[in-house]
Amino acid sequence: MSSTPIPGQPRRYRPEELEALRAKYRQERDRRIRPEGLSQYRRDRYATDPYTERTDRAPVTDLMDAVVIGGGFGGLLAGARLREAGLQRIRMIDEAGDVGGTWYWNRYPGVHCDVESTVYLPLLEEVGYVPKWRYAPGEEIRQHAVAIAKRFDLYADALFHTRVTELRWGDDAAQWHVTTDRGDRFRTRYAVISSGTLSQPKLPGIPGIETFAGHTFHTSRWDHAYTGDDLGLLADKRVAVVGTGASGIQVIPEVAKAAAHLYVFQRTPSTVDVRDNRPIDPAWGETLKPGWQRERMENFLTIVTGDHADEDLIDDGWTSTARLQRHMLTGTLDPTLTDEERAYLDELADIRKMDEIRARVDQVVEDPDTAAKLKPWYRYMCKRPGFSDLYLEAFNRPDVTLVDTADSGGITRMTGSTVAVGDEEYEVDCVIFATGFEVGVSGVISGTLPVLGRGGTPLLGHWGEGPRTLHGFYSHGFPNLFHLGSMQNAASVNFTHVLQEQATHIGAVVAEATRRGARRIEPTADAEQAWVDVIRETAPDNYAFRAECTPGYYNSEGKPRPLNNSFGPGPAVFHDLLRRWRAEGGMDEVLSAD
Ligand code: NAP
Repeated sequence: MSSTPIPGQPRRYRPEELEALRAKYRQERDRRIRPEGLSQYRRDRYATDPYTERTDRAPVTDLMDAVVIGGGFGGLLAGARLREAGLQRIRMIDEAGDVGGTWYWNRYPGVHCDVESTVYLPLLEEVGYVPKWRYAPGEEIRQHAVAIAKRFDLYADALFHTRVTELRWGDDAAQWHVTTDRGDRFRTRYAVISSGTLSQPKLPGIPGIETFAGHTFHTSRWDHAYTGDDLGLLADKRVAVVGTGASGIQVIPEVAKAAAHLYVFQRTPSTVDVRDNRPIDPAWGETLKPGWQRERMENFLTIVTGDHADEDLIDDGWTSTARLQRHMLTGTLDPTLTDEERAYLDELADIRKMDEIRARVDQVVEDPDTAAKLKPWYRYMCKRPGFSDLYLEAFNRPDVTLVDTADSGGITRMTGSTVAVGDEEYEVDCVIFATGFEVGVSGVISGTLPVLGRGGTPLLGHWGEGPRTLHGFYSHGFPNLFHLGSMQNAASVNFTHVLQEQATHIGAVVAEATRRGARRIEPTADAEQAWVDVIRETAPDNYAFRAECTPGYYNSEGKPRPLNNSFGPGPAVFHDLLRRWRAEGGMDEVLSAD
């Protein structure tokens, strides 16, 4: 699709060129579709924690003000705001050995957050920290999570390496009864569930995977004992990395430097845009005025959701692609345009971006055959966008081989010492799976965390065909129970911003309950139904877009679910709606004294 653009003019595309490109996208998509869809993956549960030793402890049987299930940023933010709301005994529970959530588990070399640290790391001003890097390494983020837990005294009652096995409401005392897999049985006034959306690692169901006699592990369970902390122990190893998503493109350059030989097994190439990471000048930190982080976060959110801002304070790969993100994340770009005009302009913007991404591959990768395989042929937001200034360069190394698995739908089989694609077998010592996570499968949704409300009603039974909440937080019949996450509210690429607004809301409702002496926080059945209706009416209709996309977790491997479950007008409108609800008597709807 390349043709030389006139300087200063956007490139024009003839109708037959557009048709040819659409056909190419469909053809590339069809090469990768697997009839078994989501069931191509194994549903192993990773019980082992390679980072913290599990220690014995006595079961607890006490009384808490709040239990917070999940020690990632959602749980930490909820814990912080509940502490500020005046709660004394707050118990964080996590299956991990410490707080940090995804940043606890993902410790692969090269791990970074690709959302700018000044907007991604929450509560920077409250903790008194200015990040060291524009895109922070995982360890800096994990340490920040620890700092939040300390700052808000969330360690005292925390239980790690612990999984909640049941939440059961006791109506007489208005308390939740909590049981865990460590024999704990305690009670709590409030319960918050923030168990994450990408937390269960998944492995491909490759025939023979269990027969492989070499070493294997998943990127989110990095085996430092095998690789050495500096990867020095890989020097004599032939290593395979399977997967080239956001994790793959970060880890591959690091393993490439260390291994005797690296084979990268790719099914779909990621988009790899410029990263431009650099240290943050501490002198810049000195100039910041109170409120600086909120200003940056709001500015980022405004731009990525397609609204106008006078200046772009972040000015990076996310803020420059707002039009492209609209399809997945919603936004209000150009409300004056007709749907047809908007679709056409979106497609043109998409082609320009993808042409730029493909041209970059040619500029960086020396071998034309390898470059051809690394070029992505789909619309920009069909996959999570990637950013790296090291990834494409790694394929110029003589000790790195790219193995394209698209035509066989991934790796064909594994034997005792090989990974095979079609008839070709590759002898390797170690296979690292960068194959991602199950999506949206929280304990509540999967049924591994049964929640029984008033009268013993199961939450999943009450929800029926899909979640039923007011504002995504609480359900009728399940008092004093809050959900954090992306269910029935509005998401953003800066997910910690969304979590912060949610935690602030919960904190404010609990503080008001305490002030009024209310025993129960619970929406009426009518309020819950009204919000379910709002979600049904406003949820973005991006089914057609996702159905056309190359398979991946954004479209349930090529079979998108028809129903979307988020608030269409987007996060900025949603946050404003919550603020107005709080200010204009909304609490009266959910607080009751009896
Ligand atoms: P992912 O995006 O789901 O990528 C999984 C990779 O494994 C894909 O390349 C997939 O190929 C490949 N794969 C799966 N089965 C295969 C098979 N049988 N044979 C060969 N390849 C196979 O997972 P991820 O990279 O861990 O990223 C998950 C999410 O975590 C991201 O989208 C992002 O939200 C988050 N994340 C964020 C950051 C950050 O900087 N903020 C960093 C890392 C991760 P196909 O594409 O063909 O399916």
